[in-house]
Amino acid sequence: MFELNEKIRDLIPYEPIRGHFDVRLDANESFLSLPEDVRQQLAEIARTLPYNRYPDPLAEAVCQAFGEYYGVDPACVAGGDGSDELINILMNAFLEKGDTLVTVLPDFSMYGFYAHMAGGREAAVRKDDSLTVDVDLVIRRVQEEKARMLIFSNPCNPTGQGLSREEVRRLLRAVPDTLVVLDEAYMDFWDQSMLPQVQEYDNLLILRTCSKAFAGAGIRLGFVVGQKRLVDVVRAVKSPYNLNAYTQAAGVVLLSRKEEEQCAIRKIRESTAFLYGELCRLAERSGVLQRVYPTCCNFVLVKTAQADSLHRQLLDRGIAVRRFPGYLRITAGSETENARVLQALGELLA
Ligand SMILES: *Cc1c(COP(=O)(O)O)cnc(C)c1O
Repeated sequence: MFELNEKIRDLIPYEPIRGHFDVRLDANESFLSLPEDVRQQLAEIARTLPYNRYPDPLAEAVCQAFGEYYGVDPACVAGGDGSDELINILMNAFLEKGDTLVTVLPDFSMYGFYAHMAGGREAAVRKDDSLTVDVDLVIRRVQEEKARMLIFSNPCNPTGQGLSREEVRRLLRAVPDTLVVLDEAYMDFWDQSMLPQVQEYDNLLILRTCSKAFAGAGIRLGFVVGQKRLVDVVRAVKSPYNLNAYTQAAGVVLLSRKEEEQCAIRKIRESTAFLYGELCRLAERSGVLQRVYPTCCNFVLVKTAQADSLHRQLLDRGIAVRRFPGYLRITAGSETENARVLQALGELLA
């Protein structure tokens, strides 16, 4: 009989949430769907693509559009099938068997998983109840472990908290022999990106995505940015046609509407501020919500010992939020969606 190896024996496939929920505030997607004129452009792209041809392996047009949007050199940008794929590629390329990856938990759960699949070893620094990143603690751990890589999201999913650019710079300078992967999936909602300074560091890679602020989770498009020497590694290691032709062309459209995009980001930030304020008010009225964390992202994290039962009762009412042990994470939604989740929580807490 064919035996599964140890690395994969106990893995279980990713479980999407099942069933229909009117209100989906569980995956930090944008609540704004793309406007009609953009849909027309995308439809025209889909109609006229040369389907019989392989796509551009370097994805030059979309990397160019990214470079123009953010003011970075397109030669220092590579694209991925979502930043998820890029995380996998980075782990495979930059970790060898037995190498140590330092993570700062709680954080995005895929880091440890892909590191494990690459034969790496995860050493986790735990955050305290404030859920902020203690830079000195991280530096010490990276040094003690002689870590090959440090990865964390900034601002952080699921905590919502951000580390200032000054603190990130201090961290980068303190660990010159370690590759630091900065996952800026939510940085479009905050203003402390390291993109403007990425060329100053030979140990820094930055990840970005079209899945959150750009309302493009469905097209699967992410980017990695860094000094050319590092990004060339990604280009060499990735499968040549990782970005399909539609995604490349659609990405150019999404990244070429800067004004409209800035306006969408403003709306999402307003929605998040409203949700945060209302959750704070609920927490004042009911001790069940123990702490509402300030946020630099498009979601709010709430500490509650009742996370399991609140999560289940919200699902029963057609509302999906994300549950972690002891916490709920609620994505900012439309006015109606926010009202639905706040009303339901108000009733459940009463
Ligand atoms: C959503 C998310 C991603 C994944 O982005 P994709 O581009 O959709 O793969 C990466 N990192 C963090 C922290 C995220 O929350």
